Amino acid sequence: MDKAAFHTLSCGLFIVTAVDKEGRKVGCVANTLLQVTSKPAQAIIALNKQNVTEQVIEETGVFGVSVLDQDCTLETIGTFGFHSSYETDKFADRTYELDVNGMPYLLDGVASRFSLKVKEKIDAGTHVIFVGEVVDAEKLSTTEPLTYSYYHSVMKGKTPPKASSYIEGEDAESSAAEAEVEDSGKAYGWRCKLCGYIVRDYPDGLPEDFRCPMCGAPASMFERIEL
Ligand code: FE
Repeated sequence: MDKAAFHTLSCGLFIVTAVDKEGRKVGCVANTLLQVTSKPAQAIIALNKQNVTEQVIEETGVFGVSVLDQDCTLETIGTFGFHSSYETDKFADRTYELDVNGMPYLLDGVASRFSLKVKEKIDAGTHVIFVGEVVDAEKLSTTEPLTYSYYHSVMKGKTPPKASSYIEGEDAESSAAEAEVEDSGKAYGWRCKLCGYIVRDYPDGLPEDFRCPMCGAPASMFERIEL
C-alpha cells in the first residue's frame, strides 16, 4: 500500500475539549472533524481511546471543538497534541471562554468554535467515532483555517502518535533524510525525545531555559544526535 496516498486527503486541525465530572478541563488535537449533515447540523470526529479527552466525552456526552487558524502556534499544538491531560493542565496558559455546554474553547489562533452533543458512537478499533449534533457555533477570526498540509509543510509540525493520520516512523525518517542532505560532514544537533523535533542551532549545548518549540518540553528532554 502506498502510504503517501493518505497525504492527499485534506483536513484541518482542531482542539477538541471536554470537562470531566470533577470539573477538570481536558483537550487534545484531532484532524478528523467533518460535517455530515446540515439539517440537523451534525459532525463526526474520531478520537484515540487512549486520550483522556475521548474517555471524558464517553462519560459526559458533550464536547467542544476549536478550529485552529494559521495564526495558531506550534506551542499550542504541542501542548494539546504531545502531552496528556492527566499530567498537564493544558488550559493553564491559554485564553479561553466557556461555551453553552460549559466546554472551554480557545480564543487565540482559532478560526471558529463548535459545541456538540454526542448522538452516537462507533467503535473503530484504536479510535472511537463520535457523531455529534452541533448545538452552537461561532466564527471567531478572518484568518485562514489551518490545514494539516500547511502545518506539515510551512510550520514543520509533526504528527502526534495518537492521531488518526499517524504513520509509524514517518516523521523520524523525514527528519533524518533532511539532516543528511543539509550536513555532509559530521555535525551534531538535539532531538526532542517527546515529539522528535530536531534543533540545529546549538551544537555545543542547549541553553538551560530552552523549550521545545513544538511541544514545550524542557532542555533536559533533548538527546544529542549526529546530524
Ligand atoms: Fe518536543
